[in-house]
Amino acid sequence: MKLCFGSLLLLFIVLSGCSNDQRSPLETSIYNSENDKIGTATFTERPEGVEVAVKVEGLEPGVHGIHIHEFPKCEAPDFKSAGNHFNPKSKDHGLMNADGAHAGDMANIEADPSGMVDTKLMLPEAKLKEAQTSLLRKEGTSIIITSGPDDGMTQPAGDSGERVACGKITIKADEDETSDPTEPDKKQKEE
Ligand SMILES: [Zn+2]
Repeated sequence: MKLCFGSLLLLFIVLSGCSNDQRSPLETSIYNSENDKIGTATFTERPEGVEVAVKVEGLEPGVHGIHIHEFPKCEAPDFKSAGNHFNPKSKDHGLMNADGAHAGDMANIEADPSGMVDTKLMLPEAKLKEAQTSLLRKEGTSIIITSGPDDGMTQPAGDSGERVACGKITIKADEDETSDPTEPDKKQKEE
């Protein structure tokens, strides 16, 4: 019985070690084309995919496209460094496309009259843990907001205009924050 308990304890320690690399939830900062921080995106692993909680301000009021891109590089002002939409399964662009969608395609977001967005989106094909469709595979990926809405159909990016904001999605995205990595299951919401 003692031996059994000891084995269980060991297993618990091993499992804790595996899940303690801070992949979920993962908070990233989003910057505009002037390199000012305008908000955050928080990624959480769920059974049905990756949930993306977006909180930004300072956008033009109205509807904007939002997508995951293939490289974790946010070089202002045009953010072309982020590459194309995240597309590990080589599909076509667009949530309304029969041959789509990119794993990085999401529903549009709408900024209110003051330019704020506070919403949750889903990436049903994506993961945070190690996988072909992991947002954290290789060096990571990025999240980009565009000036106009994604029409869900037009190749390669839904005719959604200029890239106006960008955030890097990497396993060390929160490295510059003062959170204690040894504290388990910490709620990150402070508001
Ligand atoms: Zn796309």
